Amino acid sequence: MELTKKNLVFMGAPGAGKGTFSGLLLEQVKLAHISTGDMLRAEKASGSELGKKLAAIMDAGQLVSDELVGEIVESRLSKSDCDTGFILDGYPRTIAQAEMLNKILTKIGKKLDAVVFFDVPDEVVLERLTARMSCSKCGAIFNKLFMKPAKPGICDHCGGELIQRSDDSLETAQGRLKVFHESTQPLIDFYRESGLLMPITELDKAKIFQIMLDGLK
Ligand code: ADP
Ligand code: ZN
Repeated sequence: MELTKKNLVFMGAPGAGKGTFSGLLLEQVKLAHISTGDMLRAEKASGSELGKKLAAIMDAGQLVSDELVGEIVESRLSKSDCDTGFILDGYPRTIAQAEMLNKILTKIGKKLDAVVFFDVPDEVVLERLTARMSCSKCGAIFNKLFMKPAKPGICDHCGGELIQRSDDSLETAQGRLKVFHESTQPLIDFYRESGLLMPITELDKAKIFQIMLDGLK
């Protein structure tokens, strides 16, 4: 395994742990964190016309259009803080997005170094998603089952109120998982064929975290 891979994609089912893993890594390594989910939620929260359209799609657990996320990602990747490396968290999610990403990267003179795939069984992911709470102020993620906040309903970091994301209800979570298997799973082969795929399971997560950290520092 190559150790100094700086331009990364994190891929995996919703709730597979991409966000948590990125957070831990970014505490120690300087990489730009590009979460399309976070950027889309920010737009949704702004209450703009676009935000209202996004709300309908995201609350139903569906994917936002490839064109729209492509535009968001292109302008974000063009910023100078991406020059030292980046984590694309939750993008690409379809073959069309992966092809668009290749075009964007060629255009701005960059290339991907690795695609980290978080391989987690559906049952585990569903249990986690429905127990997931996030801070309404700082976005920190907690879990009612195994990463409990010190005080129920209150963020350990900033004291903000913890809420369940509107797309984390059981029904929507199941729908998002289905979307993952239908639209995103094919990307695993796409990136395996290009030699970029780096799979991580729950068992080797801690070990790989350390290897990545050592390589990236
Ligand atoms: P998770 O990783 O838990 O599924 P995200 O925060 O990454 O959640 O995404 C939340 C929602 O934002 C998705 O369900 C989808 O509606 C939208 N979204 C995020 N990234 C993409 C993307 N690359 N393509 C299309 N829609 C996206
Ligand atoms: Zn907080």
